[in-house]
Amino acid sequence: MPDGRVEAFSQIASVALAEPGTRDPELKYVQGFLQRFGYLGGNSFTPGAVDEKTTEALMKYQERNAVPSTGSFDELTRDAMTSARCALPDLDSGVEFSARCAWPKRALTYAFDVDSTDTTGTPEFEAVRNSLRTWAAAVQLTFTEVTSEADPDILIGWRPANDPDHSMVGGTLAHADFPPDCGVVTTNLPKPVHFDDTEHVWSIGAAANAFDVETVALHELGHILGLQHSNVNGAVMFPTVSSNSTLRVLQPDDVAGVQQLYP
Ligand SMILES: [Zn+2]
Ligand SMILES: [Zn+2]
Repeated sequence: MPDGRVEAFSQIASVALAEPGTRDPELKYVQGFLQRFGYLGGNSFTPGAVDEKTTEALMKYQERNAVPSTGSFDELTRDAMTSARCALPDLDSGVEFSARCAWPKRALTYAFDVDSTDTTGTPEFEAVRNSLRTWAAAVQLTFTEVTSEADPDILIGWRPANDPDHSMVGGTLAHADFPPDCGVVTTNLPKPVHFDDTEHVWSIGAAANAFDVETVALHELGHILGLQHSNVNGAVMFPTVSSNSTLRVLQPDDVAGVQQLYP
């Protein structure tokens, strides 16, 4: 499958900067982004205008994404919105997810299915195993690898961008889900950890225009354990990630979050 190397949210990159009160049909792309990631409710706003609801949503987005809270679609906000990011929402209809939860058991199983077309062999599976070891070192949890036919709790693999269980089209890198009692993608097992193999290039380590598998896996597995997106810039659970970089070590905010879930 060819890699499209899609720029993240390229339609947003060409929307003109806008203050509260501005009308511009292109603002629908910004509003679409705010809706997709949980900041703006369905029919609560005027399409193509920085109205009151859109201003509030922009301020919430800015607070959670390390951007000064202006309520305007300004340059820093446009830069943040056009960064590659996780496909899971940051908020649930404008509020923190109320249903953050832990697994009811401490021994989890996982399996791999489809590997990435970007690598020779399956070093990406070993990268994911490394990220599982990193989480297992922070809390009393075990992860045992099984075959994909053995009813695993977690099923890990590479998918097309238009993934049927949760779309990754347009600049999102990967998605997972939360534990069974608070899932947003599926109520069934296995829980998915899916990487977009259409629009991005995957690498083992930092590489130009590519994303480090272990870095993104560490973030997605945080969701599997029950963590939401963090507003701490530099934390593993922050929603955006840069190409050509690695972040393979849990940060204090991540450790505090997971130890609260699994004391
Ligand atoms: Zn995420
Ligand atoms: Zn999926």
